[in-house]
Amino acid sequence: MALTRVGVAGAAGRMGRALVAACAGSDDVALAAAVARPGSDAIGVDAGRIAGVDALDVPVSAALAEVLDRIDVLVDFTTPEHTLENLGACAAAGKPVVVGTTGFDAGQRAAAAARASEVAVVMAPNTSVGVHLALRLIEIAARVLGEDADVEIVEAHHRAKVDAPSGTALRIGEVVARARGRDLEASAVYGRHGRTGPRERGAIGFSAVRAGDIVGEHTVLLAGAGERLEITHRVASRHTFAAGALRAARWVVGRPAGLYGMEDVLGA
Ligand code: NAD
Repeated sequence: MALTRVGVAGAAGRMGRALVAACAGSDDVALAAAVARPGSDAIGVDAGRIAGVDALDVPVSAALAEVLDRIDVLVDFTTPEHTLENLGACAAAGKPVVVGTTGFDAGQRAAAAARASEVAVVMAPNTSVGVHLALRLIEIAARVLGEDADVEIVEAHHRAKVDAPSGTALRIGEVVARARGRDLEASAVYGRHGRTGPRERGAIGFSAVRAGDIVGEHTVLLAGAGERLEITHRVASRHTFAAGALRAARWVVGRPAGLYGMEDVLGA
């Protein structure tokens, strides 16, 4: 079986460590490089040790450029600014990228998409398989129920998460808006406080909970007259995200330049 040589950007982070551990436990993916923020205590330390698994003989590096020639694909779970830098370096070197980072603003998203004209990029704000099935179910529910059903999206994450609503919640909002033939930004209501007035028909509400060590939970509520449908997805471990990201990494190697999503990876 051909080994896919993976580089992990953000190797000292929560997701980075889960990715390194997932590589260590995989038969067909090998950790070939690990990169952390310059100045990080992790620089020079074996990536396996940082991830809490056996040593992998891959010291954490501070510079992607130094390790790019060792990898087939980069898996990036860092920050939007850093992901954009990495996309530039990978596009120049012809290395595909799996982007798990969330929190891009519109300009950053456009810049990332532009890189995908040079190299294959999977943008995957949620790499769990179950969430993609949930998106399919939500699309059907939104289409069948239409605007008679009020849609509220409630997400919960750990206290250290820096962006809100989550990338997955926004993706859910896009799916609902598209199923109704609407634009998300024109329909979205982000949190409520004070004298908000009655709910507008067709609004898509977002609420974000930040607490403790919750890995990731999303509930979509579709509430009409006399009945309510709820679709909930919960992730109990980052290993779920890591396994999906490695699946995307295997899939994207050898693909032509272009912007892909997890739906392409999963064929769903
Ligand atoms: P984290 O803060 O624990 O880790 C991010 C890491 O990136 C940190 O270690 C940070 O030092 C590192 N980093 C920042 N700048 C860097 C640089 N210049 N070079 C190298 N490393 C750099 O965060 P996390 O919980 O691991 O999440 C990371 C990102 O992944 C967030 O955007 C989060 O929302 C997203 N995420 C996505 C999924 C998914 O399924 N796609 C799942 C969980 C988290």
